[in-house]
Amino acid sequence: MKVFKFGGASINSIDRIENVGKIIKSHSNEEILIIISAMGKTTNALEKVVDAFFAGQNKEALDLFEAIKNEHNYVLTQLIQKEHNCLKDFYTEIEWLLHDNPVRDYDYYYDQIVCCGELLSTAIISAYLNEVDVANTWVDVRDIFRTDNNFRDAVIDWDITSTKTHEQITPLFNKTNFVITQGFIGATDENESTTLGREGSDYSAAIFANLLNAENQTIWKDVEGVMNADPKQFKDAKL
Ligand code: ASP
Ligand code: MG
Repeated sequence: MKVFKFGGASINSIDRIENVGKIIKSHSNEEILIIISAMGKTTNALEKVVDAFFAGQNKEALDLFEAIKNEHNYVLTQLIQKEHNCLKDFYTEIEWLLHDNPVRDYDYYYDQIVCCGELLSTAIISAYLNEVDVANTWVDVRDIFRTDNNFRDAVIDWDITSTKTHEQITPLFNKTNFVITQGFIGATDENESTTLGREGSDYSAAIFANLLNAENQTIWKDVEGVMNADPKQFKDAKL
């Protein structure tokens, strides 16, 4: 079993998502757990939604969220021609919250809202891959990653997370070679969403790679390569 992680920049356009599809397809004979971040700058955009909501500007929050919805709907319809409603429940959950008034602290709302970036991106990619015959299983990582309730910087409960990973993730590979889930997010024992800190998706992938004793972990990047030295300091640096 291997772990692949794709970050926001790797899935920030139709082309890039199609490219991710090609990469995954080229590993069809292997069992791979795929961890994905939110598309492009979605997390930053969701932070603005949280700010507006917490400032009591519900209309502004809903408008900002509408723009995020439109972006995701556009990507989904470009990738899958027929009607697909894999995003609807996630939208409803957030919109329902955004109509309310905040009664808890900022960090709590941050996690309940911001977590949808990864849920949306993985739902789109999973649906797209199934559509192009790359069979995969989508998992809500909030059923697997148990954390404390230190919102925005939640700490993994290793015992419970390890048990859930073995009991719920491992058997999925009997069904499909690819299992797709979210980076960055988890949940408390009361099923409240949590996040592991900005840029936390690499960490999520590493947690899975460790718990599943993966053969290796690949963090796919959207660059052509890495320079062997800082080109500003070394004129003969090579890609
Ligand atoms: N989407 C989250 C962020 O932008 C997590 C990640 O990309 O690693 O911070
Ligand atoms: Mg990132």
